[in-house]
Parts: sequence; C-alpha cells; structure tokens
Amino acid sequence: MSNPFSKKRKINNVDNSIHRELLDFDFEKVCSVTLSPNNVYCCLVCGKYFQGKAKSSPAYNHSISVNHHIYLNLTSEIFYQLPDDVEIPKTHELQDIIEYLNPTYTQRDIDLLPRISFDLNSDKYLVGYVGLNNIKQNDYANVIVQALAHIEPIRNHYLLTKNHPQSPLNETLGNLIKKMWSPHLFKSHIAPHEFLNCVARTSKNKFTLEKGSPKPFLLWLLNKLNEKSFDCLRGKIEMTSTPIVAHEGNDKVEFITLESKTKTVEQKFWMLSVEVPSQSFATKSEKIQEVLLEDLLLKYDGETKTQGEKDIKTYRLVELPEYLILTKQSKI
Ligand SMILES: [Zn+2]
Repeated sequence: MSNPFSKKRKINNVDNSIHRELLDFDFEKVCSVTLSPNNVYCCLVCGKYFQGKAKSSPAYNHSISVNHHIYLNLTSEIFYQLPDDVEIPKTHELQDIIEYLNPTYTQRDIDLLPRISFDLNSDKYLVGYVGLNNIKQNDYANVIVQALAHIEPIRNHYLLTKNHPQSPLNETLGNLIKKMWSPHLFKSHIAPHEFLNCVARTSKNKFTLEKGSPKPFLLWLLNKLNEKSFDCLRGKIEMTSTPIVAHEGNDKVEFITLESKTKTVEQKFWMLSVEVPSQSFATKSEKIQEVLLEDLLLKYDGETKTQGEKDIKTYRLVELPEYLILTKQSKI
C-alpha cells in the first residue's frame, strides 16, 4: 500500500496553479456535464464544476483531458489532486478559498464592523456594502435582500447561525447575507443566483428572475420564513371599523354609519402603508418636498377616519416594532 504522505509531498505549487480570478461560488453548485447537484467539485484552475472524483467521473476526466489537477469538494470543503485522488492539506494559503465559498462568523467578526477590506484586484470595499447583480429583472428582490441584510438583529442571526437544514429558502438567504458581509470577497459584487432560484421554486414561479415587485415579495418572504429574528419588524395595531349603509330617502341617497355594529380587532403587522405626496423627479433642480414622519403616521392616531367602500376605519398603533417598514399607499 502506498504511503499517502509521500504522495502529499509530491504536490507542489498548488497555490500557483489556482486561478482565484476564475472562481465564482455564486452559481448553483451543479456539475457542468451531468447537471447533478451531488458530489460536486470545483476545478480551481478554470473554475468549472464537475461531479466526481472516481475513475471516469466528469472531474476525473477533466483532470486528464485538460491537465487541471486541483479540485475542491464544494460540500466537504476538502481539496484534492486529481486524477491521483490525493487529499491536499488545508494550508493557511488555501483558507481564503474556503472563506470565499462559505464565509463563517464569530461575534468578534461582527464587533469589528464597520470595516474596510480589499478584493482580488486590491480594490477597497466597505464590508457589507456590496452590489447584488441584476441578472435579468431581479432588482425588486435585490432591494429587499439589501434592506434585510442591513437590519442588525436579522443580519447577526444569519451571520451567526451555521445553517438552516429545515428550510432551503432560509439556507440560501443566509448564505447570501453571509457573502454580502464577507471581508474575504474576491470581487466586490455578488450574484444572487442560488437564493433566487430557490425563491422561484418555493413560490411556484410567482417570483422569478424576470418578474416580481418589492412589496409583495417582502411580505411573501417574511411570512414564508417566519423567522424569530424577524420579530424586530413586527408591530401591533388596533383597527376599528364601523359599517356604512346607503339609505334611500326623498330623492337622495344618505349614508348612515351603524355605530352599534362597530368592531375592534387587534392584529400584528409587518409594514404600514402611508400616503406619500407624489413626487416628480423630472429635473435635478426640483426641490423634493419634505414630509414629517409624524404627519405620515397621523392615519394611525386612533382618531383619523379612513373611509372604505363599506365602512369607516380608524387605526391605532398599539406597539411599534424596533424597525418600522413604511410603504407608499397610492392616493385614491
Ligand atoms: Zn479546469
């Protein structure tokens, strides 16, 4: 039997053969030949994914046909030299690749924020403030991910939780947020492929790379995940509604409120809609009209009446969340 250590000694210049600029772990981890997501290796020379590593497997064949010999198993995070099938020791020099694949955090890493880091090109970036690629028309989802990733209790939960095995949606969102806050990025932008593909599958194509809008997407995501860390977005409101009925009198229709049928219910909310004056951004010189938050929230003072088709409602804020999301309500 051969001595594995003698084989390990033969592995020279591992780091020189690796082309970090070609590595991209944002894409779905599937074999480029079989499209299988199982047992996938990344060729660290050209960045392509192959299933393998046994004899005649795509990774094995790739190593022989193009002489690319350094591979990383994307699940076990173990480096191999193929076709010899020899494990490569995980040296300090290779640790940045693991961090790029699966960033991990401790409380101390979070305490160090905000911080500056550098990508492969030595370009400076502010950790956490990196762009998400607009692959097709997925900017509606990107803005929501960016917003959630910058709410501290939510960010910290995802950075410090190793994985969410029960929920692929939670797992892929967590991985995306971990990448967004990584100080070890090779390039300072991220493609949200894995998360958005998972969103499309979970929402049965209601939200895809091509279609969706921010507000319904956020509501869907919050309700679907029902994460404890999202409690910081939950408020409580009391809604009182009094029915109105039309009463035909002498040649005219009168509307009567039925005070005796007034109902009051208390419910939780994720966001409040407010009437924001419409703005024109046609010219840069145009001054944007400022509105006081207190004025926007007058609708929720428990006294201001909002007329609907069949009732008159008043809203009273019972409990404000730690982070309040306001959405624009279009004027009727
Ligand atoms: Zn290759």
